Amino acid sequence: MSDTELYAALKHFFGFSKFKGLQEPVVKSILDKNNTFVIMPTGGGKSLCYQLPALMQEGTAIVVSPLIALMKNQVDALRALSSEEGIAHVLNSSLNKTEVKQVKQDISDGITKLLYVAPESLTKDEYVDFLQQEKVSFVAIDEAHCISEWGHDFRPEYRNLRTIIKRIGDNIPIIGLTATATPKVQEDILKNLAMSDANTFKASFNRPNLYYEIRPKTKNVDADVIRFVKQNEGKSGIVYCLSRKRVEELAQILQVNGVKAVPYHAGLDAKTRVRHQDMFLMEDADVVVATIAFGMGIDKPDVRFVIHNDIPKSIESYYQETGRAGRDGGEGHCLAYYSYKDIEKLEKFMSGKPVAEQEIGHALVARSCCFCRNIHV
Ligand code: ADP
Ligand code: MG
Repeated sequence: MSDTELYAALKHFFGFSKFKGLQEPVVKSILDKNNTFVIMPTGGGKSLCYQLPALMQEGTAIVVSPLIALMKNQVDALRALSSEEGIAHVLNSSLNKTEVKQVKQDISDGITKLLYVAPESLTKDEYVDFLQQEKVSFVAIDEAHCISEWGHDFRPEYRNLRTIIKRIGDNIPIIGLTATATPKVQEDILKNLAMSDANTFKASFNRPNLYYEIRPKTKNVDADVIRFVKQNEGKSGIVYCLSRKRVEELAQILQVNGVKAVPYHAGLDAKTRVRHQDMFLMEDADVVVATIAFGMGIDKPDVRFVIHNDIPKSIESYYQETGRAGRDGGEGHCLAYYSYKDIEKLEKFMSGKPVAEQEIGHALVARSCCFCRNIHV
């Protein structure tokens, strides 16, 4: 494959004339059928790293992704690029029999280039047996930090992926992608996927356009948040809270004060969640007040501020959550409120968890606490 062909494909499928960051060597590594490990910050353009080679190759690429909303977003975007509806599919428990049949047919016919699956769907024998018969170009594991207990979003089902991929085929290249830069998480990923031979690409994690600020959390925190949001009127922002109750409360306080704010948390029904997310994306709402259930894979480039009403449970999650600000390269103000009481709350939160998880959790919280104290003088 020549560079001219590669650039022509980039232009043809995505309309871009240039690769972003390390995309080009990553795409080449995948096209050469190597196991590949990609560490790029949120917004770095990881999706294209596997989408382009999938579109260019024979067979179907399997993309493992942790969230249904995230998969749907990507499938819709891919379908918009092509006249062929079947170019990308999601395979999960929400499909009925007829739909599953159609997905299988499109894969067998060589139409489907990307098949998005949740890790728990991949464990189904029915799917594994089917995929065994088909030509699989590679398996991409997005948000690969879900493999590691040291990541900010551990998913036990992610740990079985290696075994399942082996059952689907013997020499299927694996691509892991994550925005988590810590060595412990990276080690875990490579080990669990048994791909110490992987070509590893790590981008810079410095985000010079993000401004970080920690303020002490006093009883006036509501007034302080309102003032901050008002000073940034008309700009898009996210306010993260630890509890659903606090999300509801703060969203209401902002609304009463004339801010176009909507709540978002896992306790709301799916319809409401989608509606609020869309309102934010379409700028019918300026501010989303949310638990950490909000944001993974949300691609709104002009988020101008991210506020943490409560201390984040680890530096990794803080980096991830604040990383949603200023994706377009413009300003991004990251403001967190810190009080020792919140640390105690987080510690209490963990006391119901398995001991091993608790130990890791305590260590992560301690570093988060240390960060807040040091940055706030
Ligand atoms: P990540 O998964 O790393 O957080 P995404 O794959 O969601 O990042 O991409 C972030 C944004 O970058 C998207 O809006 C995408 O369209 C854009 N993007 C990706 N590759 C390029 C490119 N080569 N040129 C311009 N924009 C790009
Ligand atoms: Mg992504």
